[in-house]
Amino acid sequence: MSAAGVKSGNGCIADTPIVVVGACFVDYVAYVDHLPQVGESLRCRSFSKGFGGKGSNQAVCAGRLGASVSMVGAVGTDGDGADYIANFQRNGVQVSNVYRMENTSTGLAMIFVDSTTSHNEIVFSPNATGALTVDYLRKQSDNYNNFFGPKCRYIILQNEIPVETTLDVLKEAHTRGIYTVFNAAPAPSTDEVAVVKPFLSYVSLFCVNEVEASMITGIDVKDTQSAILATEEMQKLGAHSVVTTLGGNGYVIGEKGKPPRHLPSITVKAVDSTGAGDCFVGAMVFYLSMGKSLEESCKRANMIAAISVQRPGTQSSYPTLDELPAEVK
Ligand code: ATP
Repeated sequence: MSAAGVKSGNGCIADTPIVVVGACFVDYVAYVDHLPQVGESLRCRSFSKGFGGKGSNQAVCAGRLGASVSMVGAVGTDGDGADYIANFQRNGVQVSNVYRMENTSTGLAMIFVDSTTSHNEIVFSPNATGALTVDYLRKQSDNYNNFFGPKCRYIILQNEIPVETTLDVLKEAHTRGIYTVFNAAPAPSTDEVAVVKPFLSYVSLFCVNEVEASMITGIDVKDTQSAILATEEMQKLGAHSVVTTLGGNGYVIGEKGKPPRHLPSITVKAVDSTGAGDCFVGAMVFYLSMGKSLEESCKRANMIAAISVQRPGTQSSYPTLDELPAEVK
């Protein structure tokens, strides 16, 4: 069944090998001459509405590359919820497990960007995404049976829905023999680190950036050497494989039985790196699902993320299959 033909939250079993469980946020971005002072009412120069949330970005990245991918998440019964579902469908993401929560708004972020300095202020409200509790999700999805369908081989999780829900899905997926990818972003708080650590043995591939790696391991990750040490430490904590991304400095791969190795990024003129990490994760899992090794999948994801940082925007910067150079098609 094509993504476009699937009604959201309809109780259908997702029939895709890749399933992403995570946040749906609408970004309201106002470009202003200066950030507003206390009590000031300010007319913005321009306005744009975008689609975000780490899980959604990853699903959309994979969908644009042509992956067979489903999203599991929640939006409200408001117009933003309808817009978000249409956005998934335009980008090839199956939505039968995107639930519409009654009397709740879709998660959103209100962002002010100073047009001169590019400084920003962000206030976000998770709304439906924050209400994605274990009880709610289990009930909506027939105890996860609706998205762990017979075709499901990869699950991708982040740290943007309630952490108990993420960990419950992670453990269940591991029990069912599904390859689990946990992108612990945004960085977990100290309290969350304590809760997350015992679950790392359920993680097939743990993916973090420098800040997240530092929070999880206590190692100050600031260069390649410290990233290698932190990668080793995360494997010792139980994760089977680890990828630590380092922005324009590339990434470190840790795999069982091999010493962690650093691979460089591609030198490009970056104009906007927002969502580069999500692009990397979505693309990496797409190539894993195509049977590529972890190293080859990361190499290709690195190329896809390098394309995305050369364009403005988040999801809109992710390339589609026909835009890729021949070597990563
Ligand atoms: P975000 O939170 O914005 O999604 P992140 O901090 O999780 O990003 P990064 O480590 O910044 O993720 O970047 C992920 C990957 O994107 C890098 O490993 C690299 O492949 C690519 N990348 C990021 N920035 C650049 C850059 N300036 N030049 C080339 N590639 C980049």
